[in-house]
Amino acid sequence: MMQDRAQVVIIGGGIIGCSTAYHLTKMGWQDVVIIEKGELTSGSTWHAAGLVGQLRSERNITRMLQYSVSLYEQLEAETGLTTGWKKSGCLHLASTNERMYELKKGATTARSFGLEMNLITPQEAYDLCPIITIDDIVGAAFMPTDGQADPAGITQAMAKGARNRGATIYEHTLVTGFDFDNRRITAVKTDKGNIECEIVVNCTGMWGYQVGALMGVNIPLVPFQHQFLVTDEIEGMPANLPTIRDKDSLLYYKDEVGGLVMGGYERNGIPWAVDGVDNDFISQLLEPDFDHFQSLSDPAMERTPCLQEAGIARLVNGPEAFTPDGDAIMGPAPELDNCFVAAGFNAFGIAAGGGAGRMMAEWIIAGEPSLDIWPLDIRRFGPYHHSRSYNVERTKEIYGKHYTIHWPNEEHDSAREVRRSPLYFQLKEKGAVYGAKYGWERANWFAPEDVKPRDEHTFEMPNWFEHVAAEHKNARENVVLIDQSSFCKFEISGPGALNFLNHLCANQIDQPVGKVVYTQMCNQRGTIECDMTIGRLSTDRFFIVVGTAFGLRASWWIQNHMPTDGSVAFQEVTSAYAVINVIGPKSRALLEKVSPADLSNQTFGFGTCKSFSVGYAPIFSFRVSYVGELGYELYIPTEFAGHVYDTLWEAGQDLGIKNAGYRSIASTHLEKGYADWASELTPEYTPFDAGLGFCVALEKEDFLGKAALTEIKAKGAPWKLCSFTIDVDKPLMLQGSAPILLNGSVVGVTTSSGYGHTLGKNICYGYLPRDQAKGDGFEIESYQQVYEAKLEPSRVLYDKEGERLHA
Ligand SMILES: Cc1cc2nc3c(=O)[nH]c(=O)nc-3n(C[C@H](O)[C@H](O)[C@H](O)COP(=O)(O)OP(=O)(O)OC[C@H]3O[C@@H](n4cnc5c(N)ncnc54)[C@H](O)[C@@H]3O)c2cc1C
Repeated sequence: MMQDRAQVVIIGGGIIGCSTAYHLTKMGWQDVVIIEKGELTSGSTWHAAGLVGQLRSERNITRMLQYSVSLYEQLEAETGLTTGWKKSGCLHLASTNERMYELKKGATTARSFGLEMNLITPQEAYDLCPIITIDDIVGAAFMPTDGQADPAGITQAMAKGARNRGATIYEHTLVTGFDFDNRRITAVKTDKGNIECEIVVNCTGMWGYQVGALMGVNIPLVPFQHQFLVTDEIEGMPANLPTIRDKDSLLYYKDEVGGLVMGGYERNGIPWAVDGVDNDFISQLLEPDFDHFQSLSDPAMERTPCLQEAGIARLVNGPEAFTPDGDAIMGPAPELDNCFVAAGFNAFGIAAGGGAGRMMAEWIIAGEPSLDIWPLDIRRFGPYHHSRSYNVERTKEIYGKHYTIHWPNEEHDSAREVRRSPLYFQLKEKGAVYGAKYGWERANWFAPEDVKPRDEHTFEMPNWFEHVAAEHKNARENVVLIDQSSFCKFEISGPGALNFLNHLCANQIDQPVGKVVYTQMCNQRGTIECDMTIGRLSTDRFFIVVGTAFGLRASWWIQNHMPTDGSVAFQEVTSAYAVINVIGPKSRALLEKVSPADLSNQTFGFGTCKSFSVGYAPIFSFRVSYVGELGYELYIPTEFAGHVYDTLWEAGQDLGIKNAGYRSIASTHLEKGYADWASELTPEYTPFDAGLGFCVALEKEDFLGKAALTEIKAKGAPWKLCSFTIDVDKPLMLQGSAPILLNGSVVGVTTSSGYGHTLGKNICYGYLPRDQAKGDGFEIESYQQVYEAKLEPSRVLYDKEGERLHA
């Protein structure tokens, strides 16, 4: 008989569900139930190859995986169950110079994360792994702490650990639906009866999409076939081989009782059961597809000739859940108040399992994980991820690129040109080279007439560099137009709107009508949940602007805190307004040519908003700028956008007007010292760490995070966001998450970097422990090259907006 209530119900007894239960019980929650329709591990987990790698490009995801390794190392001793954990190390091969660049980048990133990754020669690679050919290898890297494990063993061990501390596991029990009370699930329905609960966690792997649909939660994962080959024993196979990743051949390997496991990620992966996986698919595999596997087995015969003679024990074709951006889907489901998701692990669920379960348990118990893992957060997906065809197409591309080189600034090719600004075609005619963010097509740069409008992939100087430089220069000297229609926009109104916003925002929102305020919203710990610009349109109506990709997260935070008495209304108005940002010292002169309004500094000062007409169009404008120049964001009812653009463009001809794209904003805003959400502003840091203390109105009676922020201010913030410049004779293409060194030791990691075209210097941001954020002796390492870096006394390296305030 199944119990009729539990505090937490976890659906799915794969590695992720068991790890979540293990960690919940470890943290003291005992009333935890796992419901599994087959046996434990009978989904994707039992047939995983079992490679456990740790390095990802994001620091906190790497930390999460490092935690998995530390857990797997001691799980057998703790539970008495065999886990097959073996710290075999992982060998990465490079057979092109570009791949070698990527390995150098990886080794540098690993250093910044405190993970050992050593670059080695082809001969050293052979010595570690004498079954590979190395004639085409240009270099390699070895990660000694990676390993391999028995996925079922690890999962059973965590299940035992959870049971020992009070969790109950019901196998052969199918979840069929849910009872709801408004935005809460009150009971989980199963074929063995209902179970009431306070919290539900969807850990159903490739069934995640369909179980999500039963919950009313969109989980945009797509099952794909994934194959690996297992050989019979191979004579003379050396013992203790490392796992191997030969990404140029799209291959991975691990040893298997005297034989080999060899799999990979073919360019043309095959989606499977995209509309729903049969609930009876339990401990099953798909038919092996030898023809399809040939694109992997052919290069594998070359790389490891021992395969040519080896007997094939089996070709495993097991499905697994992949996602449209290649990262797992975790966190609180935005559609509900008591439901979490951890699914879609893109063939790294065994490596992620331990850490992911811990993150989930912390999220459930403490309301947030101890690491900011925004790249995995379910709230990164927006409404356009509801389209199944979008998800399938984009996931196909991502699967096919799993092992291909990840170029700097690389854009996706599939499911493009869908979410277009009303200016899309006008700008395309003018040479716009589009990238995509949050589904929106956004101009990254503009190709002059004789230049091919497309990005050429490289780790060196990119083909667009000089054109972005020209746009940057024009923003500093004349005027540019930037289409920023993809901004997320909300209206919050009603008699309770002011008090509500003032409670949520760190800055003072009780400003005169017409004022625009930049603010963060903080949590109880005083760290940053989201940042935004808020304009007061009337006494009880506020217009909120949030960066393109963070709208769902910000709206979730806002709506989760809204009073339920009807005194506050929330409306998303993103699609109602196009945005043209008019930037540059001549921006006011330009607007004055096309509008009868008085736009002088006296009537339309910095940090205010105003309604006026441009040409025939009614618009309103925020006078703000994040690039250190005079600037106006024009909010234009969508249907007028084309007209406003043409009007400005024509009028700007004698002012030297140019179009500019997002890559020039990236450069100008680095000079201005402006911090970005997700790069610098995250739930790991407070506004005081980020140098945004001027946005914290501690004099307000009360607001979310005030107590913590008051204490932090009194004690002094532990971190300081710093600007560094690297003054060498050429622009550097700096890598992300690069280590910041002080006297040779890593003291921080860069959060943003780029080239400041006005300063003529490379610029990086990064947090340092406050007591170390002074003096000289800093260096920044990128692609294994170390550069002297100057810690700038101020984050703001260029600001003409201030000078021109009264112009
Ligand atoms: C061929 C292959 C090789 C792989 N190799 C590796 C590797 O080397 N390293 C690595 O890190 N990862 C690897 N992976 C990926 C790894 O297997 C997965 O990421 C991981 O197992 C996912 O675990 P999970 O718990 O999310 O899903 P699953 O293991 O699929 O668990 C989900 C569970 O939910 C249950 N369920 C679903 N619907 C319901 C319902 N309605 N009611 C009750 N229960 C339900 C299912 O029965 C299932 O047991 C590989 C995957 C494949 C396919």
